[in-house]
Amino acid sequence: MAIETINSDCMLCVWDCGIKATVEDGRLTEVKGLPEHPISKGYLCPRGEALPSYVYSASRLTTPMRREKGRWQKVSWDDALDYCAEKLNAVKAKYGARALAVFCGSVGVESYEVATFARRFKGAFGTPNLLSVENICFRARILARQLTYGRYPIEDPNSARCIILWGHNPVGSKGMLGELIKKKLDNDNCELIVVNPKQIPLSEKGYQLLIRPGTDAALALAMLNVIINEDLYDKEFVNNYTVGFPELVEHVQQYTPEWAQEITWLSAFDIKNVARIFARAKPSCIIQGINSLDQHKNGLQNSRLLSILQAVTGNFAAPGSWVTVPRIPLANLSLKDQETPIGSEDYPIFSNLWGRQAPFGIATLFPQAVLEGKPYPIRASIVTAANPAVSFPAAQQFKEALSSLDFLAVIDPFLTETAELADVVLPACTFLEKGGLSHVYGVVFGEPYAMLRRKVIEPVGESWPDWKIWSELGLRLGMEEYFPWHNEEEVIDAYLKGELKDKLKSNPLGTYYGEKEYWVYKNKKLNTPSGKVEIYSQTLKDAGFDPIPIYMEPGQSQYSTPELYQEYPLILISGERAQEYTHTQLRQVPVLRNSNPMPLAEINPATAAKYGLTDGCLALIETKRGTIQMVVRITEKITPGVVSVPHGWASANANLLVDMDVIDPITAYPDFKTVLCRMKPA
Ligand code: SF4
Repeated sequence: MAIETINSDCMLCVWDCGIKATVEDGRLTEVKGLPEHPISKGYLCPRGEALPSYVYSASRLTTPMRREKGRWQKVSWDDALDYCAEKLNAVKAKYGARALAVFCGSVGVESYEVATFARRFKGAFGTPNLLSVENICFRARILARQLTYGRYPIEDPNSARCIILWGHNPVGSKGMLGELIKKKLDNDNCELIVVNPKQIPLSEKGYQLLIRPGTDAALALAMLNVIINEDLYDKEFVNNYTVGFPELVEHVQQYTPEWAQEITWLSAFDIKNVARIFARAKPSCIIQGINSLDQHKNGLQNSRLLSILQAVTGNFAAPGSWVTVPRIPLANLSLKDQETPIGSEDYPIFSNLWGRQAPFGIATLFPQAVLEGKPYPIRASIVTAANPAVSFPAAQQFKEALSSLDFLAVIDPFLTETAELADVVLPACTFLEKGGLSHVYGVVFGEPYAMLRRKVIEPVGESWPDWKIWSELGLRLGMEEYFPWHNEEEVIDAYLKGELKDKLKSNPLGTYYGEKEYWVYKNKKLNTPSGKVEIYSQTLKDAGFDPIPIYMEPGQSQYSTPELYQEYPLILISGERAQEYTHTQLRQVPVLRNSNPMPLAEINPATAAKYGLTDGCLALIETKRGTIQMVVRITEKITPGVVSVPHGWASANANLLVDMDVIDPITAYPDFKTVLCRMKPA
């Protein structure tokens, strides 16, 4: 038996942990962490350990399939791609190229190869419509930080002396970060503050604020009130490097801790305390949760308040605060669009801040474009590394839209819920079956580190790497000039250039491609219109928005919709993460499913008693949008009156409960993180 150990990289989530893969006679049998990897240092989460079950899952797509008379038929690659080309040409002839939307999921966006080829294909085809998770995921905070700092600084917790986990549970969603914080709290002089309606595993090591969901802006404004009025702000930084501080001083006077305690369910005492801890501890960094503040009708402004808290305390560009990680220098293989994607005109700050054109359209407008033809008809879609039938709010609308297209193709290693609606499914390799570039995704965590990922096993079944699928489809559509590559090596050579290419090729475990950018404001002007940190944003003011954020109630609440509250008296928060799964993925992997077999709705014992629910019972969760069933878990760790459900489960999809009726007018983010609901035994 031939046994080989291959050092490579896991791409099941944004962390890109190093892996040591054992391959016996060409079959992957075991995966361990790679201690030599300087970022993950041997760490591996349950998903990484389950990689052998993942690649050989019985649910893998192993051949292309085409739907004929409502049933799946296995077909050859030639048949499948010829059929795709015929249907895409027909849509183009009837409605124009822009009637095609290429949908690239977060996993795709985080994978350079997948995102690059999806973007290149849509450019070559002539449609501007690249859609992704951009207007439900990280874009709001990116814009908020760009509006404030002219760049996108992210948390640099290694040398922080105070960390605020704001709506964030890294033990569930970013295991490696959870480990890092745990070690810091045990060994370093570091304080932890947890802002969350639920206690998280790290709460026992910190100062917990059990906040009312959706009221984070009230807490942030009251903290600013304390920091300013108690003279705890960084005068040197504020005076020299910011604009708008005098306006902020005046603005926050109305937002006292006593005012905020009514709104947030927190005591004024606690609000004052955490404001003092955060301001005095320098360096401090807020680690913002995965959309806990953004999916709100004032989401961008909520995120901006965190930027302003960092700024007034001088916690910008210093080690341990928020710093910028340089982008990896790769060739841009995208093609120039002739027009902008859907939503660009209505959301100009989202789409084009200071001339920085976003490559993505407003994905939540997809159902409207398909079902109502507004702003123009979208009639075909290619979905890659995405599962919008489950992962988007108002899932019913997305499903209906996907089902009513003239043509839908899905590229994926698995038959996802979206693929089940498709005309053609094209089996993609997993990352273990191809080589390519891996890098710690700088949008989520900041380490400028990259690796040339080694292929571990041969493709399973007849699956193909993404570059080949897009290229072969391109050839059939007469776009061969844009897809001149014949193998993986040529593709990698096309996007890797110069020194980085040499460094990566000579360092099989990867290399740092740059350095975090500390103290940037001292040497040069920032890329804001004023060249300084903009506490007061003239850009927002000119666009008709608040130049300094105000507090807004969530779209649904006891105060904003009191009549609805009479009928639906509980607050639903959705999006809880588990280490076994990445978004909607991996439910088909037996070892992970055994470890986390079903979604659970968490409620406080007082809530359970009030509504006749018991631990382990099946409950109906109802909102004005929809109803799902979920098993109840009773826990003291959650605030009474709040219901927490995980996301990503097609069998009990939280996105069936939320809608897109109320949106942030700056970013088009739907307000769906906190929704009113009711519960009863099923
Ligand atoms: S944290 Fe992410 S990259 Fe690391 S092993 Fe788990 S799934 Fe893979």
